Amino acid sequence: MELDKMDENDWKYHGEGNKSLVVSHVQHSRVLRLLKYPSEDAENTHQTTEQAFQHILNIVDYTRNVMKPLLGEKYVHSGEVVKLPLDFVRQLSLKIQQERPELRCDKVMDTFSGCGLCLPNLTHLSPCHFGDRRPPLCVEIKPKCGFLPFSRHVTKECKRKVCRFCMHQHFKLANGKWNRLSRYCPLDLFSGSKQRMYIAIKNLLEEPQNNLKIFKGGELIYSCKEDAKQQPDLNELVQHLWPYFHHGNGHQSSRTVLSELIQVICSALLSSGDSNRSGEQRKMQLAESRVLCEASPLHRDLLRNGSPGLPKDCVLAKILQAQMMDNLDIEGLYPLYKRVEQYLEEFPKERNRLQIDGPYDASFLEKVKTCPPEDDGSIEYAVGKVLQYRVAMTAKDCSIMITFAPCGEDEKLQPHLEIQPTKSRFSFSVSILDLDPKPYESIPNQYKLDSKIVNYYLKSTNATQ
Ligand code: ATP
Ligand code: ZN
Ligand code: MG
Ligand code: MG
Repeated sequence: MELDKMDENDWKYHGEGNKSLVVSHVQHSRVLRLLKYPSEDAENTHQTTEQAFQHILNIVDYTRNVMKPLLGEKYVHSGEVVKLPLDFVRQLSLKIQQERPELRCDKVMDTFSGCGLCLPNLTHLSPCHFGDRRPPLCVEIKPKCGFLPFSRHVTKECKRKVCRFCMHQHFKLANGKWNRLSRYCPLDLFSGSKQRMYIAIKNLLEEPQNNLKIFKGGELIYSCKEDAKQQPDLNELVQHLWPYFHHGNGHQSSRTVLSELIQVICSALLSSGDSNRSGEQRKMQLAESRVLCEASPLHRDLLRNGSPGLPKDCVLAKILQAQMMDNLDIEGLYPLYKRVEQYLEEFPKERNRLQIDGPYDASFLEKVKTCPPEDDGSIEYAVGKVLQYRVAMTAKDCSIMITFAPCGEDEKLQPHLEIQPTKSRFSFSVSILDLDPKPYESIPNQYKLDSKIVNYYLKSTNATQ
């Protein structure tokens, strides 16, 4: 990519989240991730080029030096900061504006700084897959938090029984964010039980909200509808999938096609890459009480069947491990945040040494890893827990990209790059994206949001404590 010869016609709208907008190159397997701002702030308070550059550099450092060692080298791509010509960025912003979903237009793309993040396009399969004419499929899942809090600081009993995602659904429905409750429960996805995972993914397909997207050849083919009242069309999805799960002349029903898709997703989520050659897999197992959500639509008997746990190196285990660094819950963490605040008020110069806002380097990761196990009253303990909590927040908000494509009959693949849960053979790759640092300053908001969600849940379900 020659940065001085950037042409907006080489790029097209790809997608966006709350913090950034992504465009993809029409030929190369690259995307550019650009920051977004609330539109009312854009004119007056936009960051200087220097600030924006530092912000993106922080994202790269945090992804590379903190999240990548925790989640595993093979899953994470940190990308690189690029400085783009302002003219290119302005033209690009005009070009893509009409393709942006309305519900995202409360923010505008940063056209002032010229800074962006360049990443591999994870909806493609690299290296390009072995000559099959069918383009790769990519399933993006934003799994959210996969365990029940186990901290003694939790004050509301319902938090030990119903997971955060399921409680949050009621709150979002009441606030008009969505029109229907999702039946997806993250605890089912993270259970490691094929049956429970199957149902979790089926529920994601039926009500994707912002937790599931499907791409084909890099193009978005399935996600929540722009008009939130409408349900996305599963039959249309089946039409796209049919060529991938078509065996001989046998007629595949829609149900079989979707079921095969779900099995491929499950296998990818549970695969340990190259580490399962020895046969016996080491498992990550949580206490029963942490993995059952009472709001999950699954039948109790199925839940009680026991949980097999997750293979230790699979992508779900890696993410869950990082999420569980939040072991005090926000209720136990908030007093420690206040301890840090008080300390910084007294010794503002300590902010740098304690690496509250970075730099996100090896010594930051060391602070995360070596936090004392018990509260000794020290500032080091409080800072360590705050940093761990922020790592967990990132892991609760990331997305998994599963990209796969059929491989031909006679292709010899390395065993760990192949899945064959159904009659079709696929080569695949799994990555994790959206690993931005969550700001230290957002902790008080997390504390307030938690109590709003829990109180609303108790009120709306008439549950007692
Ligand atoms: P969120 O609101 O979830 O925090 P965000 O604003 O941080 O989102 P991302 O999740 O990084 O933004 O990117 C938005 C979307 O762009 C993703 O959901 C994904 O569909 C797409 N995307 C981002 N990075 C890549 C990539 N490297 N390859 C392909 N698609 C990508
Ligand atoms: Zn749940
Ligand atoms: Mg995202
Ligand atoms: Mg994000």
